[in-house]
Amino acid sequence: MQEIKIDKIFIDPAAADYKLTKNIVKNAKGIEIITATPEKVLDSFRNYDSIDSSKLNLMVTLDHGRQLKRCPGTRGMICCNYFVINQGVGCPFDCSYCFLQDFYNLPVTLIYANLDDLLMEVKEHTTRNPCKFFRIGTGEMTDSLAFDNLTELTKILVPFFNEISNAMLELKTKSKNIENLLEIKHSNNVVVSWSLNPQSIIDTDELFTASLEERIISAEKIQNAGYKLAFHFDPLILIKNWKKEYLSVINILKKHINPESIQWISLGTFRYKPGMKKTMDMRFPHSILTSGEHVLSQDGKMRYFKELRLEIYKYISDQLKNWHESIFLYFCMEDSDIWEKVLKKNPRNFKDVDIMFQKSISSD
Ligand code: SF4
Repeated sequence: MQEIKIDKIFIDPAAADYKLTKNIVKNAKGIEIITATPEKVLDSFRNYDSIDSSKLNLMVTLDHGRQLKRCPGTRGMICCNYFVINQGVGCPFDCSYCFLQDFYNLPVTLIYANLDDLLMEVKEHTTRNPCKFFRIGTGEMTDSLAFDNLTELTKILVPFFNEISNAMLELKTKSKNIENLLEIKHSNNVVVSWSLNPQSIIDTDELFTASLEERIISAEKIQNAGYKLAFHFDPLILIKNWKKEYLSVINILKKHINPESIQWISLGTFRYKPGMKKTMDMRFPHSILTSGEHVLSQDGKMRYFKELRLEIYKYISDQLKNWHESIFLYFCMEDSDIWEKVLKKNPRNFKDVDIMFQKSISSD
């Protein structure tokens, strides 16, 4: 694994007194810390390439517009009724397929120090809907654990969610940054999940992330500490010998992980908005991702042909079901026909998928 490198951390004076900011200052060993307003910071980076610069520079600031919100999903695809809260925007890892490249245009990664209003909103929303069960994740605009050694955010989030009986927190990562989680006393409504891909893809298309083995060994430690696990085979990528490569990922999982501790596994094939191809080709000239044939789907994203997607999904789901029949599998952004043909399930909308999740969680 190539180590993440952070050059500078800028602290917005308005964020200086927050616990998260103090944690960052305490833990930022060897990283230059500069106090500056967001305007000054943005001005000083005027001539830099935003995405590359945001991988090296952080800004700790406040966000007054945050909300608990439903994962946006995409048109024509079955959504899984997931809620997200964003503790920041930007990521030190560099994945060739990352959608942040397409829209994030600030030269720094943002970490929001003010959590209280957001957590209050989670508390109010879950209390107002006591019969509903919420799955809430932090990994939409960043990696959930990439900065945890700096922020110690999990030491706030995990105890907070442990007090909420009708919500489950998912921390989604490609890191091995689990030290804080191992120290926290927790109940069983926190799921720690890893995205998985063969090491050959990690080497070329998931830069600075933990290796496959590091991810799975971290998951094993988290399992042994009593947390629930989840995995995401997403994006599944058609590389040479893809069956053999993905089978070897599943075999490493089998060696280290008790399938009973897995709460869910998602499957999703590589997809991208057409406008992102240019950025991917420019930033990752050696990646094979955009070569080959892709078709425009009803949600405006390019995907592999449906027959190929079906073949990949059938292969991976068969392998996983052979390992453990009752593993809960779902698709991230696929149509109802694929659900029916591969998983023999027929959800009409996000409410049906939500019911499936709730059944699988309550049967544990
Ligand atoms: S880990 Fe996630 S958020 Fe970070 S670069 Fe990769 S895809 Fe983007």
